[in-house]
Amino acid sequence: MSTAFAHGGLLYNGLMSQHEASSLRVGVLALQGDYTLHIAMLHRLPGVSAAEVRTPGELNQVAALVIPGGESTTLGMLMNRIGLDCAITERAQRGMPLYGTCAGMILMARAIEGAPEQPTLNLLDIDVARNAFGRQLESFEAELPWTNAAGEPSHVHGVFIRAPWVTRTGEGVEVTSTYRGRVVGVRAGRMLATAFHPELTSVIRVHEEFVAMARHAAGQTV
Ligand code: GLN
Repeated sequence: MSTAFAHGGLLYNGLMSQHEASSLRVGVLALQGDYTLHIAMLHRLPGVSAAEVRTPGELNQVAALVIPGGESTTLGMLMNRIGLDCAITERAQRGMPLYGTCAGMILMARAIEGAPEQPTLNLLDIDVARNAFGRQLESFEAELPWTNAAGEPSHVHGVFIRAPWVTRTGEGVEVTSTYRGRVVGVRAGRMLATAFHPELTSVIRVHEEFVAMARHAAGQTV
């Protein structure tokens, strides 16, 4: 696969399914925030290699991308400086699976309530409110309902740190999780976003589901 990647611009998916049926390379945006925890979580899944992504070139070498928590304004600015905002948008529009946690969810959203000037990638048809749980609930852990792609209910654990919630879901956006009546997890096509951090817990369900989504997109059997 490295030869093909060295020439850049080639679609990753076909290459993976032909040559590395059981190995999936998942990238984690590593500009700021808790990316190392996502890498550790992904490495727990069989057949997955996780890679830090800091440049458009590194993005070309992964089949799917996680945008971690951090500070959405800082992350947005850094992505823009390196050209990763355009590169991610372009890959996602061509079908690259994307999972955003917290600041990642904010960056994937169409708009941020009360902050129309803050740029987002506008990849997922949701609006979010930043730091929505307020001062008392700045940081907390909760058991949450989780509905998988097949519609089966289960539970996940999530840590909320100055977390957003979703204020609007567009057509085709499914709710995976709510907390106290607020939407905190969504899925749409090949995109997954959670207001909470599952990577700070030992429950691997969300990453497992994202990897299944990525394998499906890469034409691999799950
Ligand atoms: N409050 C942060 C923001 O608005 C997100 C916090 C997080 O990612 N844990 O970007």
